[in-house]
Amino acid sequence: MSRLEGKAALVTGGSRGIGAAIARRLAADGADVAVTYARSAEKAEAVAAEIRALGCKGLAIAADNTDASAVAAAVEKAAADFGRLDILVNNAGIFPYGTLEEMSLEDFDVTVAVNTRAVFAASKAAAGQMGDDGRIVSIGSNLAERVPWPGISLYALSKAALIGLTKGLARDLGPRGITVNIVHPGSTETDMNPADGPQSDLQRSAMAIPRYGRPEDVAGLVAWLAGPEARSVTGAALTIDGGTNA
Ligand code: NDP
Repeated sequence: MSRLEGKAALVTGGSRGIGAAIARRLAADGADVAVTYARSAEKAEAVAAEIRALGCKGLAIAADNTDASAVAAAVEKAAADFGRLDILVNNAGIFPYGTLEEMSLEDFDVTVAVNTRAVFAASKAAAGQMGDDGRIVSIGSNLAERVPWPGISLYALSKAALIGLTKGLARDLGPRGITVNIVHPGSTETDMNPADGPQSDLQRSAMAIPRYGRPEDVAGLVAWLAGPEARSVTGAALTIDGGTNA
């Protein structure tokens, strides 16, 4: 029996990058998986089709993280269509780049809405649907722990807030056996952070192992947290960044 057979999952921002890799991996481990997206309908549908080709139920749901009620509704739709919800992965995120002079209050509001507020909304909705032994995993960033360069204060703020949320929710949901953890990737090759982008040499120079991670690397860690071996891991922050923060 596959390790996640009989489980149902929702991954926010599962159309591309790390979220798509997580969705594929959870399905490869046997779970039914729904993915949300904001703009990339075709890509999200393609990921859902790949999941179905693995013999699992796959679903793509439009839900922009700027609209917390849409994100909560997506969680409820996934639970209704699958008949259960066991795993929530809060992955959708944006990377605003700019120094204090360049960033506005509007930038603050959008960043916190997408990267932080929607995580609270999705987690609240998911906790209402999960039975005992549920799993909530949020994708943070190694920049939540250390900020080595200028221009990333809003991003770091939005991800650092998830550390507190993760610890608090671990306490709130622990009595039900639901685990809540955060994974902090470092430089990982995606549209958001291409391995040949203008800042990529700078990022590699800070790594102990100077090569970009793959989305599948992060997916493997998330799948482990979602599985039975990790049932006692909660309130934890796990960094997967090639040693950038070492
Ligand atoms: P990508 O930009 O490659 O993909 C982002 C995903 O999030 C897409 O599926 C996108 O959907 C979705 N998304 C973006 N904005 C919204 C929104 N408003 N509502 C709903 N979905 C949205 O990013 P990555 O795969 O690189 O990043 C995934 C997560 O990992 C993010 O939280 C990011 O902060 C984090 N991370 C990434 C690192 C990296 O080096 N790549 C390092 C550390 C953390 P759509 O296709 O519809 O736009």
